[in-house]
This record gives sequence, C-alpha cells and structure tokens, in this order.
Amino acid sequence: MTDFLITGAVGILTGLDGPAARARGSIRIRQGRIAEIGELKPLPGERIVDASNAVVTPGLVNTHHHLFQSVLKAVPEGMNVALASWLRQVPYTYWDRLDEEALRVSARIGLAELALSGATTVADHHYFYSPRYAYDPGDVLFETARDFGVRFVLGRGGATKGRKFDGDEVAPLPTETLAAMIDAVTATAKRWHDSAEDTLRQVAFAPTTPTFSLELGELAELRAAQKASGLRLHSHLSENVDYVTYTLSNYGKRPVDWLADHDWLGRDVWFAHLVECAPEELKLLAETGTAMAHCPQANSRLGSGIAPASQLHEMGGVVSLAVDGAAANEAADMVSAMYAAFSIHRAAHGVTATTAETVLGWATAGGAKALGLDAIGTLEIGKLADIAIFDLTGPRYLGQHDRAIGPIISGGEARVRHSFVAGRPVVENYVLPWLDMEQLAADAVRVVERIARTEAKEKLRATA
Ligand SMILES: [Zn+2]
Repeated sequence: MTDFLITGAVGILTGLDGPAARARGSIRIRQGRIAEIGELKPLPGERIVDASNAVVTPGLVNTHHHLFQSVLKAVPEGMNVALASWLRQVPYTYWDRLDEEALRVSARIGLAELALSGATTVADHHYFYSPRYAYDPGDVLFETARDFGVRFVLGRGGATKGRKFDGDEVAPLPTETLAAMIDAVTATAKRWHDSAEDTLRQVAFAPTTPTFSLELGELAELRAAQKASGLRLHSHLSENVDYVTYTLSNYGKRPVDWLADHDWLGRDVWFAHLVECAPEELKLLAETGTAMAHCPQANSRLGSGIAPASQLHEMGGVVSLAVDGAAANEAADMVSAMYAAFSIHRAAHGVTATTAETVLGWATAGGAKALGLDAIGTLEIGKLADIAIFDLTGPRYLGQHDRAIGPIISGGEARVRHSFVAGRPVVENYVLPWLDMEQLAADAVRVVERIARTEAKEKLRATA
C-alpha cells in the first residue's frame, strides 16, 4: 500500500470544533491512516501529493440519498409541486421503469457527481424492491459504489402498506410483509455488511417512513429486529407539515414524540429532514443522540421549509448533511449542500446561525457520527485517511483573504484535485481515472429517453 505526504496546502480544515477546526502543515498517510499532521519532511518511499493552492478537508459524508433518482432529474411534472404531488409524479410514477441498466447508470451519475465534489462516504436510501425487478437493487448499488471506491451505506427501505395517490395509470407501489422486509434486510446484510471499524460497506434498516409505510403495530417489531441485528435504523421523518398533521390526527402527538413512545430514537438512529420539529422534539433528538440528515436543497426545492439544524447543533445534537435524491435537488453534490446550509440558516435566523467550520463539521464529523463510523469524519492522527483536497485556483476563490473556507462559502462546482478513502486514491488529478465520462453522458441520454413518459417525451420534442 502506498504511503502519501500531502504538502503545501493553503489550510487544513479538520472537521473538529473550536480552535482544533484548523491545522497547518502537511499530512502523512501511512497504511491508510493519518499518521502525522504538522511540519513534516518526506520519508523514503512516500508519494508526495501537491496541495499548493488547495485546502485539505476530511472526505465529505452524505448521509441521505436516493441514487435511483439521478435519471429522474427535472421531470417536468415534478418541478413545481410540493412533496406529496412530487412523490406521485416522479418516484412513484417511474419506479417500475427502473430496470437494472437504468439503476446502474443512475447510481454512476450520482456517485460521480458526489465523488468529484469531495464525497468519500455515501448513504443511500433505496426503497423500491419488487418481484417485477429481475435484479436486486442492493447488489447493483453496492457493486457500483465498489467501482468508485467510496464508503457506502445502504438503507434498505420499503413499505408494508401502500400509499394512496390519485390516478390509475401509476403502478401500485411495491409492498411486502414485515417478515419479508426483515428477512430481506438480513439477507442483504449477510451479503454486504461489514461491521469492522474500517468498514467500506454497511447495511441499515430503513423503512421508507414510519408514518406512511408501516402499520402502527409493526414499529416495535421492526425496531426489535433491527436492534438484535446490530445494524442501524434510518428513515424519513417530518419532511414537511404533512407528517405532523398525520401523527397529530391519528395519534394525538407530533412525529418525534410519537416515535419516542415506540422506542424509535437513539444513537443508532438517523432521520432524513426533520424540518418540522417543535422545541421539545429537538430536545428529545438531542438527548437521545438521534441524528438529523439535513437536506437543505431538497427542502428548498420542494418548498418544505428550513430544518432546525442550527438549533439542534446548538443543543448538542447530531447534525449531518445530505443531498437527498437528485429528482428533488438537481445539484446533488455536497459542496452545493454546504453552501445551501451555510446560507439558508443565516437568511432565516441571522448571520450567527452558521459558520463555515460548523457547516463543514456537519458534512464530515456529523455525518460520521450519524452513520456510526467512528474511524472517519475528522483529520486526526489515527483516523482512516478519508480526505478531500479542494483546488482553489478558479476565479471564484481568487481574492479571498481566508482562503481555506472557499469551498464552503463560495458554492458552485467544486474542483477536487485528489481524494482518498482509507488512503486509497479515488479522485486523481481532478478525474475518476477509470470512468469514461463521455460514455456515462451517452448512457444517461439513452436511459432517460427509454424511461421518460410519452407525454414528457412529446413535450421535450416540442420545445427542442
Ligand atoms: Zn429522501
């Protein structure tokens, strides 16, 4: 295994809080781990990584995604509607058209965008499993992530009860019994889950929602099976006010309060969104260590609101950052997510709501905490060398007095010069060396043409 010395960086952002948020000098990677940080001289046999005019950060951790949606971006019927209609118009309309090639291409698009923007860990929430598919979506996703060399967590989703939407032209959502769901998660974990400290592959229980996808009586049984398995628990929660209306009218409680009654909070649980949280719900999340996967762009795109991420952070809770599916966030890269988080909390709560360091902490250390990956998330001696090196030579970054925070405060398309997962190169000299991007672009066009709805195709042709 090659050892590396990363030298010459403008700055090092560690992902840690307070004065430890920044470091100086060089970073030595030995046997896939961070061996030293500081003023270092090259050792024989080490490969030098030039980080001049660049900033070094921990590899970014995306804690909630739906990679199947990368071929469902900008579907016209879903562009200007809120969550429920969007679900009906986009994922629930298209789920049965996602054959193996479509999912493979979709996952490649999503992972390419993420890897090239500095992500080294991706948690994907996949919730369509059906006998209609002649393939196992979990296998396709893990295989694709392995090609990229990124750390991958699969939230194996699904539903035991369907969700009613208007119209007969949509194939009914796939459902399964609770026993079948638990068996399927267990089987997927047997094939792919690695519980070692330096794991590259994890599986989590991830029913699509606790509200709309499971029967009330199944919450406790699923939680018990999940706890017994040692896997983590993930789901969507309180993405918009519909969740609150639903649990208040059915159970007389707000969503987090209601889930507390069913033992669905804890350090082994992370929820996507949590936009609609009352102060007492935030307190419960913070006290129990239940993590938030904050998806600022999808929440903005769907008009769902602004999640109280900065408040949860203030209360000592675990906040992580995520892009969510690209069908509801067509800028599905972590640098855009950091910029969105940096900006919207300031717009809503004033300029002290976020700092660049806090937001980077959400995108790195917070993500690692949410996923229970203790060996990554910060640049500290002994941690696995999951690292991103952001180039600062583009005009956007020129003229900045504090150059190290450019990739967080400036938004736009990041230029990642190099990245590493456990000391293995992922991005090298701005590219994924093995990936034919022109081929991927051609594949994307072909898949979209094949799966698009006839009406949408006609509309596209009319406006072309
Ligand atoms: Zn989602």
